[in-house]
Amino acid sequence: NSSKLSEYEILETIGTGSFGTCKKVSRKSDRKVFVWKEVGYGGMSEKEKQLLVQEVNLLRELRHPHIVRYHDRIIDRENCTLYIIMEFCEGGDLGSVIKKHREEKSLVGESMVVKVLHQLLLALRECHKKRDGVHKVLHRDLKPANVFLDSRGNVKLGDFGLARILHHNFSLAQTFIGTPYYMSPEVFSEKAYDEKSDLWSLGCLIHELCTLSPPFTARDQQALAAKVLQGKVRRIPHYYSANLQSIIDSLLATEPSRRPDIATLLGRVEGLGPPATTP
Ligand code: ADP
Ligand code: MG
Repeated sequence: NSSKLSEYEILETIGTGSFGTCKKVSRKSDRKVFVWKEVGYGGMSEKEKQLLVQEVNLLRELRHPHIVRYHDRIIDRENCTLYIIMEFCEGGDLGSVIKKHREEKSLVGESMVVKVLHQLLLALRECHKKRDGVHKVLHRDLKPANVFLDSRGNVKLGDFGLARILHHNFSLAQTFIGTPYYMSPEVFSEKAYDEKSDLWSLGCLIHELCTLSPPFTARDQQALAAKVLQGKVRRIPHYYSANLQSIIDSLLATEPSRRPDIATLLGRVEGLGPPATTP
């Protein structure tokens, strides 16, 4: 309800993404800073709204050091807007790290890449775990803008699950969605999205961290689909270890069943030796 809304003071708008606008807010009672995401549900059917509530309820159960913490949700019926209140991550997102390195023409150090890979695998393992024996949370929108950094260079994954409800049916969302660079071959060929599809996106993200541009690019979705289905990517710079290259290759297997499971991947990542030198 909207009286709960007045418990917060809006500090600034951070940005607008596919599903709504993110604002930095302060809780008046203790001046603690949060981010809230405003999601309009005006165009949704009753069924879609139910799904949205269900999905947001699942988010509340996700408590993990590498997952952005969700605090609360407020429903403003008058304005058909759902506010999702979450932890504020002040270190910025991976998108800006990639941009900075591209501008400076410098590589992201292998130790940083491996740390991101490791921590995102831990986050995905947590959300892919079955809750109440059935429900799993799939991320569905893994991309640099949804991976946040803290002051010590640890990462947190944000923006879970909402993609399922908001991508397909929500007409407003469609207009904001850019090119789906990290969309997997099985999703392009209209097969089901599952855990392995999140791993494909993770492979794209780690590949991009190493090369500073997305592994698959094209003018439009159709051209992108063709490239993704072919699955050929360029080699990452020789600075990176052969082991890292081979982990990325395994994540980018076009056949989902050939992508390793998270336990296997964690074993391989934890087995990577200390990184060589700083680039
Ligand atoms: P998208 O992920 O599609 O870019 P979002 O609506 O999720 O769009 O985010 C909009 C902006 O707000 C992005 O720049 C993102 O980095 C920032 N943002 C989102 N969530 C948080 C958060 N919890 N803490 C800090 N910044 C955030
Ligand atoms: Mg986001």
